[in-house]
Amino acid sequence: MHCTIKDRIKQIQDRIDKSARDCGRAPSEIQLVAVGKKKPVELIRQAAQSGVSIIGENYIQEARSKFETLLDQPIRWHFIGHLQKNKAKYAVRIFELIHTVDSLELARELNKCADKAGKVQQILVQVNISGEETKSGIGQSQVLPLIQSIQKLPCLALKGLMTMPPYFENPEQARPYFQALRKLRDSLVKKVSGLRLSELSMGMSGDFQVAIEEGASLVRVGTALFGKR
Ligand SMILES: *Cc1c(COP(=O)(O)O)cnc(C)c1O
Repeated sequence: MHCTIKDRIKQIQDRIDKSARDCGRAPSEIQLVAVGKKKPVELIRQAAQSGVSIIGENYIQEARSKFETLLDQPIRWHFIGHLQKNKAKYAVRIFELIHTVDSLELARELNKCADKAGKVQQILVQVNISGEETKSGIGQSQVLPLIQSIQKLPCLALKGLMTMPPYFENPEQARPYFQALRKLRDSLVKKVSGLRLSELSMGMSGDFQVAIEEGASLVRVGTALFGKR
């Protein structure tokens, strides 16, 4: 049967809500980030018109073009890709939340651009929980010093942590990585006074239900909404 984007959004939102309730959380605690990378702008428009409010993008060039085209839509743009320092100024212009800050150099550059733009930029710190060398994100042991430095940057607001586990066929195998991110968050909040870290960005098409059980507040779903890339 032909399934429209509106139907798929409803299905995913229903699964998010059910996962939340099944583990005793309020569905409103979890926000869907619809990942639009490599998908045409008109599909993103349809998603926005069907009730999606947050769009996640990985590539600055692509995001700039979509952002310009969809200025008439009330979209909140989130950056979830690897951010190069020389693209920081564009990121600050477009994105409400940048999920992937993983170095002090990048944080400083974003702070500088946010200052120039007269904005406080919301960010997450991306953590490489698995320790795989190919993955971006900062190692667990370096998160505390990074966060303490970020707290001193006046034009950044640190909202939480993000991670991306290795790919598994079976989503249960991703659970320990999600658990580790939550535990890391809990321990950081205990150690650093005034730190909140209320957001945990974790879970994608194949494993967002497990991520929600482990405390995700932002799930990043692409394929399950928009189809294969
Ligand atoms: C592409 C991407 C996603 C979405 O992945 P799907 O498996 O298509 O849902 C989520 N997070 C990040 C960081 C991505 O790059």
